[in-house]
Amino acid sequence: MERNPHADRFAEIIGAANVLTAPEDKAPYLREWRDLYQGVTPMVLRPGSTGEVSAVMKYAYDNDIKIIPQGGNTGLVGGQIPLETGDEIVLSLGRMNKVRAVDPDGFTITVDSGVVLETLQNEAEKVDRLFPLALGAQGSCQIGGNISTNAGGTAVLAYGNTRDLVLGLEVVMPNGDIWNGLRTLRKDNTGYDLKQLFIGGEGTLGIITAAALKLFPKPKKLEAAFIGLSDPHAALKLFSAAKAQAGPVLTGFEIMPRVGLEFCVSHLQGARDPLEGEHAWYVLMELSSGSEAFPVRDLMESILGEAFEAGLVEDAAFAQAMQQVADFWHIRHGMSEVQKEEGGSIKHDVSVPVALIPDFLDKAIAAVQDFVPGCRPVPFGHLGDGNIHFNVSQPIGADKEEYLAKWDAMNEIVHGIVHEFGGSISAEHGIGRLKRDLLKGVKSELELDLMRRIKDAFDPKGLLNPDRVL
Ligand code: FAD
Repeated sequence: MERNPHADRFAEIIGAANVLTAPEDKAPYLREWRDLYQGVTPMVLRPGSTGEVSAVMKYAYDNDIKIIPQGGNTGLVGGQIPLETGDEIVLSLGRMNKVRAVDPDGFTITVDSGVVLETLQNEAEKVDRLFPLALGAQGSCQIGGNISTNAGGTAVLAYGNTRDLVLGLEVVMPNGDIWNGLRTLRKDNTGYDLKQLFIGGEGTLGIITAAALKLFPKPKKLEAAFIGLSDPHAALKLFSAAKAQAGPVLTGFEIMPRVGLEFCVSHLQGARDPLEGEHAWYVLMELSSGSEAFPVRDLMESILGEAFEAGLVEDAAFAQAMQQVADFWHIRHGMSEVQKEEGGSIKHDVSVPVALIPDFLDKAIAAVQDFVPGCRPVPFGHLGDGNIHFNVSQPIGADKEEYLAKWDAMNEIVHGIVHEFGGSISAEHGIGRLKRDLLKGVKSELELDLMRRIKDAFDPKGLLNPDRVL
């Protein structure tokens, strides 16, 4: 195969070993998690420092080369995968994985963008602090990718989205300029807050090379309960009662249907049903406090005791040890991957106002079952944030390809209901390639125009992650 004319120049900048051109070396960077996209690229570049990223970007800019930044390649809207046209080069941040500074007294940590989320959590723990961002892909996704997608996850209820955890960023611009905005200030009102544009920017405006992040007190007392209930209406009432009693001590509230738990028990290693009987719906509720003295267990018992009396809860298992807390979360975090084992799954990552979640679920479940009789809705996720991963598995025994061909039509039905409820068609995964064409249906012409003008100002040649988002 003909060698790409730019490969030698990139090899001079980052070292020949970090320019991957062999098909077997490139393969892991080209396939995305859901198998929706299979990319093509002449090479994958793996720079090891901000200076190298800058030099790569400058050369790419001068030579009109399109660059696709990639972190852990766990994104769910295809933004990190090069197009099938084969003229986009992948720039992987994985070698940039150093912790630059930890300040436990100031509750901050500063890291390269290629640090894996789980490593970052562990680094915080070493100094008795918490980095709260937590999601199913945490063993692979990188903080640069989390920031670029403004990832949500299971701790948003108490700590906010990734956006709320970022104090400063270092960014390499599409022309190679380095913006050092790596500040750890808690207060800084000096004009436009530019970092906000890169957070959730999905790699279309610049390449994040480092981040200064907030740390929190590590929970000293933590309780979790796996709760069986009849329907999402009961779950919402339980959420409201728990929030009213526990306030900021309520740090997790996740909902899952019976079928999702069954998928986990069948396909997820180490997963077992925490309750004896069967229940139509489940909630994983977590309470935690940074104070040893806080009576978290008493609070959990009080909330659930009242909920039993009110008929909201059918059964509940309390975690007896930290291992059991981990077992409960293992089920919740495994909920995405097990769906692959049950054939085709049509996905929706939606949000509606929290109080409307039960009505939304009633209507959306009925609508998809009407559209594809026998389909198996597996709506699960962050009830406390009003965010549901409304995934729908194919009917048992159906043809996978035939079922997946209904993807757009089912999206239209579900998104129509989301719109009716004043919700969002992308609560946490972003727009990328998958939802790009839906954007014009949900943003005003003015919003789209402002977004296009920002893109033009930051990336006038349109070489960084082109055709994503806009
Ligand atoms: P990638 O997939 O590599 O990239 C994602 C996007 O960011 C792409 O557009 C890419 O170009 C860009 N990008 C990556 N790194 C950089 C950088 N350094 N600078 C500029 N642009 C960059 N998301 C949630 O929000 N909540 C969840 O609960 C959740 N659960 C998940 C569970 C599973 C099992 C999986 C597979 C994914 C889940 N996700 C969830 C998706 C989530 O968006 C990603 O896991 C994560 O945030 C992306 O990080 P990444 O490093 O893998 O980025």
